[in-house]
Amino acid sequence: MNQRLSGIAASNGIAIAKAFRLENPELIVKKTSISNSNAELKRFESALDQSKSELEKIKAQTAQQMNDEEAAIFSAHLLVLSDPELLGPITEKIKLENVNAEFALQETANMFIGLFESMDNDYMKERAADIRDVTKRVLAHLLGVSIQNPSMITDEVIIIAEDLTPSDTVQLNPQYVKGFITDIGGRTSHSAILARTLEIPAVVGAKTVMSSIQNGMIVIVDGLEGDIIVNPDQKTIASYEDKKARYEQQKSEWAKLKNEPTITSDGYHVELGANIGTPKDVAGVLEHGGEAIGLYRTEFLYMGRNQFPAEDEQVEAYASVLKQMNGKPTVVRTLDIGGDKELSYLKLPKEMNPFLGFRAIRLCLEMEEMFRTQLRALLRASIHGNLKIMFPMIATIEEFRQAKTLFLDEKAKLEKKNIAISKTIEVGIMVEIPSTAVMADIFAKEVDFFSIGTNDLIQYTMAADRMNERVSYLYQPFNPAILRLVKIVIDAAHKEGKWVGMCGEMAGDEIAIPILLGLGLDEFSMSASSILKARSQILKLSKKEMERHTETILSMSTSQEVETYVKKISVTE
Ligand code: PEP
Ligand code: MG
Repeated sequence: MNQRLSGIAASNGIAIAKAFRLENPELIVKKTSISNSNAELKRFESALDQSKSELEKIKAQTAQQMNDEEAAIFSAHLLVLSDPELLGPITEKIKLENVNAEFALQETANMFIGLFESMDNDYMKERAADIRDVTKRVLAHLLGVSIQNPSMITDEVIIIAEDLTPSDTVQLNPQYVKGFITDIGGRTSHSAILARTLEIPAVVGAKTVMSSIQNGMIVIVDGLEGDIIVNPDQKTIASYEDKKARYEQQKSEWAKLKNEPTITSDGYHVELGANIGTPKDVAGVLEHGGEAIGLYRTEFLYMGRNQFPAEDEQVEAYASVLKQMNGKPTVVRTLDIGGDKELSYLKLPKEMNPFLGFRAIRLCLEMEEMFRTQLRALLRASIHGNLKIMFPMIATIEEFRQAKTLFLDEKAKLEKKNIAISKTIEVGIMVEIPSTAVMADIFAKEVDFFSIGTNDLIQYTMAADRMNERVSYLYQPFNPAILRLVKIVIDAAHKEGKWVGMCGEMAGDEIAIPILLGLGLDEFSMSASSILKARSQILKLSKKEMERHTETILSMSTSQEVETYVKKISVTE
């Protein structure tokens, strides 16, 4: 009873439900000789049938919970399962070589996957990805191993997993998934960010949950403190139900501030924006009183599918966000793939250090056509609202100039075709690489704005992988090294009359907020669910007073000193 575990608090709230383990089974195939090929063929057919009916169900479920586009992946998988080009050689192999179905399937599938992947043709590369996924499903049936699909959960559960990929997380339905706990990951891993968007309580980086929690055990997730209680007794359940009710009560107090502007006690206005991943998230932003969208992570439009989204589809998504925001500032970030965000159909070689690798703007500048398509879609959508575009992972001024040139080129081409485009699109960059923070004065002359991406800026400054819980102690937003970089960026921008936002998770942190206010940050962008809490805090703070503390804070030696000091001086809940 009451086994206590702990991890990193990743998404606020408390949930109590039974555990559901999400496992990624290992599929080991051995070659064996068989004596009855007809029986083996039957076994293969039955595995195919089981896979088909499973895929039909997942497809229907996904179409209902998400949309038809997400469900299209499963239609492609179903097509593979009835493709004679693939099935023919497998049955031949079983009949002629007298080998087991698992082996025949794996050999044949690997041959096609290798062939398609080697072709210089995106369509064929996508087919390889489909075959790989489908093969896994059929193999699991043949081997009697179950594979799970988060979108199929129809019971109230808390997911227990080693890790959740962003595409797993996209499939989570908050109606049933009440919380999740993972062994690995940090507060700024993308599954944690998505949990905050979906408002699902989560604890990540808990290290031992997969080895200590079994299916069906009752679990409490305290996403406020990062605590997990397994098999709680009645008294513990009652006390957490109480805590949950208090948290809900607090939330309804904050909700009263929904339509208030964010003005400090000494009359200074800051903009409180939200970070979103899809057009569907805008409803939550407005619901929580967001004054802007400070970061739209467009990569989610590219994920969970088999090919790049077409230009028109992108226009629709961007226009939908802009229209819903009804003239409020909307910062859209161009594709930031790589790091912990993969695209299965973009078959890039595995890298030793994906966070330092071929990602974001580096990839977009090389895959120019794909990037131009996104820029065109943004330009075409721009007339529907107050669009600002920013480029991720800018490390040098040349990268910015190159990206801006492509933007201007596409703009000129559309103008020539008399396509309507907003006249006021601002073009800025994310400051998330230390070289760019240090050179902010040079960038400030050419960009329209900066948005500081502390999730990456901290990992690169401290050389501490944001996904690795073993080095999470180095992930220190209040380290004076980070604060000094932030100051450099804000001062450089203001000198050129440009504005600065922050869209890393630090912007919604209650210790960071008073410091950032003192440093002069203009816009704070965070998970929608943090906005009202932040507003209630800022209303009580005085900017002038925080400015007076800035020098003392920046001259401190450690993150801990800063934290203790800010707790003492600022008015918090
Ligand atoms: C960041 O790095 O701070 C950021 C906001 O971008 P992402 O978390 O998507 O890398
Ligand atoms: Mg980043």
